[in-house]
Amino acid sequence: MKRLVLAGAGHAHLHVLRALGEAPWPGVEVVLVTPYPRQIYSGMVPGWIAGHYRLDECVAPVLPLAGAAGVRVVGDAVCALDANRGHVTLADGGSIEFDVLSLDTGARLALGAGLANHPGLLPVRPLESFVEKWTQVLPMLLDDDNARVAVIGGGAAGVELALAVAYRLRRETGVTAPRVMLACGGGLLPGHAPGVVRRARAALAGQGVELVEQRVRADGSALETEAGVPLAADWVIAATGVGPPDWLAQSGLTLAPDAFIAVGRGQQSVSHANVFAAGDVASRIDAPHAKSGVYAVRAGPVLTGNLQRALAGRPLEPYRPQRRSLYLLAAGPREAIVSWGAFSASGRLAWRWKDWIDRRFMRRYQCPGKR
Ligand SMILES: Cc1cc2nc3c(=O)[nH]c(=O)nc-3n(C[C@H](O)[C@H](O)[C@H](O)COP(=O)(O)OP(=O)(O)OC[C@H]3O[C@@H](n4cnc5c(N)ncnc54)[C@H](O)[C@@H]3O)c2cc1C
Repeated sequence: MKRLVLAGAGHAHLHVLRALGEAPWPGVEVVLVTPYPRQIYSGMVPGWIAGHYRLDECVAPVLPLAGAAGVRVVGDAVCALDANRGHVTLADGGSIEFDVLSLDTGARLALGAGLANHPGLLPVRPLESFVEKWTQVLPMLLDDDNARVAVIGGGAAGVELALAVAYRLRRETGVTAPRVMLACGGGLLPGHAPGVVRRARAALAGQGVELVEQRVRADGSALETEAGVPLAADWVIAATGVGPPDWLAQSGLTLAPDAFIAVGRGQQSVSHANVFAAGDVASRIDAPHAKSGVYAVRAGPVLTGNLQRALAGRPLEPYRPQRRSLYLLAAGPREAIVSWGAFSASGRLAWRWKDWIDRRFMRRYQCPGKR
């Protein structure tokens, strides 16, 4: 009997679990290490914040999926990996040996200057903690019309969150005075076409979000621009970009220049043939691409096939990630902004498209029998 260890219940591993539920792999014991019994789907979180979804609509329940797949679940987090000796260490001190390891643990949030000490900090990762904190903070924001929110980070997540928060507060309190700012010193939606940026600016202005196009830092509870201009914010949502998990550096795996796991054409580690990685924790060295959920989802089927092949000692199949991907950015109300290379569009139809794609994706894991 060979042992496959799945670390993390990220997007690609949801696919592996579903495939195992449909047809078990004979002679393979599968162990899933996951700190949470569910996987929150980030693509629907801005819609949840805006009030369009209930939380349960944005969640894939991992335990039933694993149960149907005959997978043993260890409710813990990997905190160290020895790729040469073939074992992972868990936060509770235990360890698990593997014949084949697959990592889909996502990335950690790379926090900006001094932000870690801000008393009102709401880091977007881990998503579980963010969702829990936001659930506590929202009633306070609804009770106090003067409380203000700063969202730090001009990437897709920062823009979507700023729009969602502003829309929700306006809708529920009726207060139209600006209460949300978006700080994007690294630029607004870098990597997206000018038309997308223009549409995002219009949406942000429409929801009364103040744009601060400068880097910001925090000293205790004081938030200010790099130039020293104070910014009023009681709560700070940090969507400041991603970094690799701390435990990768000592894992023995070859890392890519960005310090994530270097993987090749079959999502296989370039240094260890029995280690695979997908999603944000991996970097394709032959075909670099953005760290986004789209790529994590797309890697699921190829990862599934190649894990099976590796366990059976068969040659792997290569996989070429798409060169550009479609982004549908939630824009506050039931509207979205489409970003596809140089093409942009926005409006209610785009939201309906996004909603359809997201709900269909979630149905696959909430009701595993459905396609
Ligand atoms: C608010 C927000 C909105 C976003 N919207 C979009 C979008 O619309 N489209 C898009 O493409 N991307 C979006 N992204 C980016 C997207 O969330 C990530 O790129 C995506 O989640 C990466 O998927 P993953 O499978 O690599 O990891 P994750 O989704 O982060 O999943 C990793 C899993 O591993 C678990 N885990 C973490 N550490 C450990 C450990 N040490 N041991 C065991 N398990 C562990 C976690 O609990 C989690 O279940 C958004 C991000 C945010 C924050």
